[in-house]
Amino acid sequence: MSETILQVEHLKKVFTSGKKTVTAVEDVSFTAERRECLGIVGESGSGKSTVAKMITRLLDTTEGRVTLQGEDITHAKGKDLRKAYRKVQMVFQMPMESFDPRRTLGDGIGESLRNMGLRKKETRKKVEELLVTCGLTPEFADRYPHEVSGGQCQRAAIARALAVDPVLLICDEATSALDVTVQMQIVQLLRKLQKERGLSLLMITHDLALAQELCDRILVMYHGRIIEEGTPDEIIGNPKEEYTKKLIDSVV
Ligand code: ADP
Ligand code: MG
Repeated sequence: MSETILQVEHLKKVFTSGKKTVTAVEDVSFTAERRECLGIVGESGSGKSTVAKMITRLLDTTEGRVTLQGEDITHAKGKDLRKAYRKVQMVFQMPMESFDPRRTLGDGIGESLRNMGLRKKETRKKVEELLVTCGLTPEFADRYPHEVSGGQCQRAAIARALAVDPVLLICDEATSALDVTVQMQIVQLLRKLQKERGLSLLMITHDLALAQELCDRILVMYHGRIIEEGTPDEIIGNPKEEYTKKLIDSVV
């Protein structure tokens, strides 16, 4: 039985600066089910990150609605917003930049746990568990961001995201800055987490091959809209839109 974790309805984002307006996202609707890996694929500038930022409330929505486990979070603020943040976590392209360079990875990963009232010793234990879950060793807790590789740092960023035990993990180009072999290792880690923790994944990427590898379903975005939706086999085997065909041709 499926359970809808995320529902996005008619999402729209208009950026205004002075007299200039840009419609970055227009009429975007989709759902993500529990344990599903949903991919959003599209070229740079197609509106993928803007969608992610509206879901996580880093950006206000111009129009539309975001519902998380049945709760409307479109305009969530304060306490409601913090509650929503525990359910949705995001992993970004540049893991190094998402950690404070003057603090250890363990500090970064444990921050939300301490905020939830966990004691120092319990926090340390949980941080070490999370590091191991993400394929690192407990010693990584004492390292600084500049003392680890890009792949290791991304694993630490995933560990930090998991600390609050979210239901949905949004990865925005989370593997784009990594070497291909490291990319595949991170993909395998995400797949493992999806299975073991019942996580839903929203994989945002310009890389159709990567989405094909990991995702159960793919949405293709073009100029702010979803132009095509289907399983990887449907999208790649029988693309309906010209743009999707071009995307496929650019991969093979
Ligand atoms: P993607 O993540 O697919 O590369 P984005 O969502 O970052 O695309 O951007 C979609 C469009 O919105 C682009 O035209 C971009 O220039 C524009 N855009 C994104 N953020 C802003 C902003 N803060 N102000 C103005 N325009 C923006
Ligand atoms: Mg982006």
